[in-house]
Amino acid sequence: MSGGAAQAVVAIVSVGDEIILGQIEDTNASWIARELQRIGAMPGERRAVADDRAALARTLRELSATHAAIVMTGGLGPTLDDLTRESLGDVVDPGAALVRDPAGVEHLRDWFERRGRAMPELNLRQADRPPSARLLDNPHGTAPGISARARGPGMGAGCDIFCLPGPPNEMRPMFEQAVVPALRTDGRVVLTAALHTIGLGESRIAEQLGDLMRRDRVPSVGTTASDGIVTIRVRAAGAEEWATCALDQTVAECRSRVGSIIFGENGEPLASVVGRLLVSRGMHLATAESCTGGLLGAFLTEIAGSSAWYQGGFVTYANARKVRDLGVPLAILQEHGAVSHETAIDMARGCLRASGADMAIATTGIAGPTGGSDDKPVGTVFVSVGLRGGQVFSRRFHFPGDRTTVRRRTAHLALACARFTLLGEPTRSLLWSEAEAVRIADA
Ligand code: ATP
Ligand code: MG
Repeated sequence: MSGGAAQAVVAIVSVGDEIILGQIEDTNASWIARELQRIGAMPGERRAVADDRAALARTLRELSATHAAIVMTGGLGPTLDDLTRESLGDVVDPGAALVRDPAGVEHLRDWFERRGRAMPELNLRQADRPPSARLLDNPHGTAPGISARARGPGMGAGCDIFCLPGPPNEMRPMFEQAVVPALRTDGRVVLTAALHTIGLGESRIAEQLGDLMRRDRVPSVGTTASDGIVTIRVRAAGAEEWATCALDQTVAECRSRVGSIIFGENGEPLASVVGRLLVSRGMHLATAESCTGGLLGAFLTEIAGSSAWYQGGFVTYANARKVRDLGVPLAILQEHGAVSHETAIDMARGCLRASGADMAIATTGIAGPTGGSDDKPVGTVFVSVGLRGGQVFSRRFHFPGDRTTVRRRTAHLALACARFTLLGEPTRSLLWSEAEAVRIADA
């Protein structure tokens, strides 16, 4: 079922007080996790550990009992808070002192000599290693890496431990040179696919996916949500032929269960999907933005080549500009307020008129933190989409979140409204809005 024997499961350990304290981002671990999948190895547990010899040794012991390999970064520097060497020794050669590696000493002397600098005595620590370990070349820094094998009761073939320097520019080439050849599993792969949806909440999508999301299923299916976009992630690990086929089958199954709210795959932005639909219909788009203040235009122009289908837009933040640039009647603003179906509809109409585009998207709302009322609380937003010579569809949303979140969600859902209008489903019910919150007028 899983397509053959299990692949190497590899733990990732990031060392350093500055990671524990949140002073630097642990980018090494994410990078290593992605690289492992690329070479057909499976990331297992990931841990961050302080500069603490006992905690490091305990971590290595625990992980080596349950993983085929450990890749650890940091703590190889010359100072007394760099304890990776000692804690590795505690695990692989308990009771034995570190030995000073002659080739490592030579590397250090050479490094300083080439730079015309005297080598501080302390740096010699970087040539130390447990007796059974070996050093890994570091062409980009002083700290050699170290690799060793932990063996113990119940550990079978043992666990390969790779200790790499913390600085990414030193760690990455060493990973490629020393870790990749050791962990690459020929013919085995970890394949992933991402299906991006917009329109339903995460739990509704989980309902539709049903048993596909069972934790013991292979390939595995999971979801993540960000600003209204819910991504379905499928992962298949195993023999290449099996994994390729299994991934395709599961992706097809997800597609058939979730349907047209899937707008794209593998990082494809929503704006580019809208662009493709416009091109296929020979249409041009323009925007009229109030609460998003140009964010929608920014999303659209992030897409290379968008000038082929996006004309540009109006940022009409103050009422006076809605009147002057878009011809929204002052009486509409006075009677219904700037945040209303009526204003949104007239913004879209004015945008179509003033731009000559085939489609217009307008946004107006209360992003907060102030400006809300009982009737229109913070997060109330109207999005309207108008078609030249056709109709305007205005939709009332209520977005939870702070100002930044409301604005981002507005821009995403506005693109979703445009997409569903282009697909001929302008009134379908959407997350944070109901089908009955839609009003229709002539353009
Ligand atoms: P050095 O010889 O530079 O001291 P080291 O192996 O001891 O190398 P650390 O002291 O742990 O590494 O980290 C040195 C620097 O490397 C950190 O200040 C940080 O900039 C970077 N670094 C360390 N760990 C990580 C990590 N997990 N993710 C991203 N950067 C890191
Ligand atoms: Mg250091």
